[in-house]
Formats: sequence, C-alpha cells, structure tokens
Amino acid sequence: MRIVVTGGAGFIGSALVRYLVNEAGAEVLTFDKLTYAGNLASLRAVEHAPNHRFLRADICDRQAVAAALNDFQPDRIYHLAAESHVDRSIDGSADFIQTNIVGTYTLIEAARHYWLGLDEARKASFRFLHVSTDEVYGSLEADGFFTEQTAYDPSSPYSASKAASDHLVMSWHRTYGFPAIISNCSNNYGPYHFPEKLIPLTILNALDGKPLPVYGNGSNVRDWLYVEDHARALHLIAGKGRLGEKYNVGGRNERRNIDVVEAICGILDRVRPAREPHANLIRFVTDRPGHDYRYAIDASRLESELGWRAQETFDTGIEKTVLWYLDNDWWWRPLREKVYSGERLGTAVGAG
Ligand code: NAD
Repeated sequence: MRIVVTGGAGFIGSALVRYLVNEAGAEVLTFDKLTYAGNLASLRAVEHAPNHRFLRADICDRQAVAAALNDFQPDRIYHLAAESHVDRSIDGSADFIQTNIVGTYTLIEAARHYWLGLDEARKASFRFLHVSTDEVYGSLEADGFFTEQTAYDPSSPYSASKAASDHLVMSWHRTYGFPAIISNCSNNYGPYHFPEKLIPLTILNALDGKPLPVYGNGSNVRDWLYVEDHARALHLIAGKGRLGEKYNVGGRNERRNIDVVEAICGILDRVRPAREPHANLIRFVTDRPGHDYRYAIDASRLESELGWRAQETFDTGIEKTVLWYLDNDWWWRPLREKVYSGERLGTAVGAG
C-alpha cells in the first residue's frame, strides 16, 4: 500500500505518518511545504525507515503535485496540508484561502488526472481522504451534537476555508466520480503539538512560570481527541469508509477550556511541583472574536459502521501529553525560542 500524506510534517500528519510507517507497514511519501507549522523533527521516528520518503513541496504547485504522484504511484492520498490556526486566520486570511482552498483544488485536480490514468483495478481501489474539521459546522449551544447531516455554518476565516475545501472535494466526487471521502474531527491534542495551541501553550508557559491565558471566561467547550486515536481513525476511514460520505471523528471528551487548563496544572503540581500551585498563573484574557461556544461530535457512524473506538480518555491522554512535553524539550525548545514564544494572536486588531 503506497500512501501520500500531505501536511505530514505537521501535528496530525506526523502522527499519521509515524503510525502508517511504523505500525501499518505502508510505503509513505510525506508531501509538505514546511511552513512555520511543519517540522521535520516530528518525523525523527521514521527518518531512517526504508518505507518513508519526504518531499518538500507546495500543494498549490500543480506541476510539483503531478510529478510527485506520477513518480510515487500512490494507492491513496491522505490530505492534511492546511493552514490550521484560527487565531492566525483572524490576523491574516490570505494563506488560508491560498492553501486550504486553492491548494485543495490544485491537489484534487492533479489527483483526478493521475487517477484517470490508472489501470481499471488500481482506479477502482484508489482513495482520496480529505481531512477536515468539526468547525465547519459552526457553534453548538449547551446541548446537542454535530452529526454528518449538520448544516455547514463556519464562523472564522479558517473554518470557512475548510468548509470551502470540503465542498470542492464532495463536488469532485459527485461530478467526476472521484473516489473521495471526508473526515471531520474535533480538537486534537497529544505529542508534537505546535506550542501556539491551548494545551501545549499551557504546559510550556506553566513550566516557565509564565501566565496561562484563557480566552473569555473559560467556559467554551471543546471535544478533545487524542491524536494517535485520530491517526488510526483516518486510516480506517480511508480503507473501509464509503465513497462520497463524511465521517465525524471525536473522542466523546467534552471539556471547558478552564477545566483543561486546570487539569494540566493539577498534573504539573504532582509531577513538577513549583513554589505555588500552577493554577495561580491562570489569567482570563479578551475573548477570541467570533469564538464558537461549543463543539461536540457524534461519532456513532464511525463507531457503528467501521468499529472505531477512541483508546484514550481525556484523563489518560492529557497525562501522557504532559509527560511527553516534560521528556521532549529537544522538540519544543527550538520552536519556543525561534518560531513562536507565546505572544497573543488573533485579536483582530490590525488584521490584514
Ligand atoms: P498543522 O498546522 O500542525 O500542520 C499543517 C502541515 O501542513 C504543516 O506541516 C505545514 O507545513 C503543511 N502545509 C501548510 N501549507 C502547505 C502547502 N501549501 N503545501 C504543502 N504543505 C503545507 O495542522 P494539523 O493540526 O496537523 O492539522 C492537519 C489537518 O487536520 C488540517 O487540514 C486541519 O485543518 C485538520 N484539523 C486539525 C484539527 C486540530 O485539532 N489540530 C482539528 C480538526 C481538523
């Protein structure tokens, strides 16, 4: 099985590549532009694997995509390359439109032409998995869940660009019969998560004794999914999912942001006690503009049709994650020092 993973040097992409190469025995080509969010250090565990190669290239570059597909001859493409941070999309949306919309268009057109040139047997088994987000559905109130039937209602430039890319992929299936499947997942967390996101930012600021910013009053709810559970789900969906369908992926782990931050503080108080409880560092800051109140995924289609179950609860996953950051400063310290050191993003002040 030969699989191209776009965005494979990112957070979820690298977890997927490590799983495919080290556990699923696939031949993998990681196709990644290496933006600020892409990091070859996240692929160290597959660096010397004979069944992995890396290509630095842009999904917006049609020729580069076509050449990579013709050369590598994949049986599947897992598409994760994206601009992924909501706050950055508020500060400047151009890269989000370019990569998430134009890039996805460029990739599926190149992939469609590649697919058309395959022999009948390979054409029939070829799969394109488009990895998207539950943020396309907008915001929930205190009750209810997102299902695959929930109407799209995105709030941020990021989620709007992902919604657009989902529509393109689905239309390529309906119009051209292109063998695509879409997955929409909730917030991921785990090892190798870029330190701009809530969980790694909280862990690393707490270790440094710096303030722990919590947006608004901390009551916004996210449904947390351990990244390695997600990687297994993606490979399963691509292998067994129905073409032209969507699958929601979520860990059934709803938590308020303030509860997440307090859970991290509690673990650190136990394993790395400081003079004061880490929770004393919590600071409530101005809310994110357009901040969705609550996301919660109904993953029953994935569970009942394909037999997937999350292996981690939030309590086990967050413990593993905190311990991973404590043990792996070789990975995050260069990012904190050179790429992003924790400044506030996404206030919409001076957005360009
Ligand atoms: P990430 O930002 O960590 O990684 C994105 C990767 O894409 C990086 O390695 C980057 O270099 C690469 N990339 C960006 N632009 C590119 C381009 N033009 N060409 C080639 N490569 C490019 O993102 P992530 O958190 O791993 O998310 C992966 C996918 O999952 C994204 O499509 C995202 O929308 C989706 N998703 C993420 C979450 C989450 O909680 N992280 C939740 C739902 C959906």
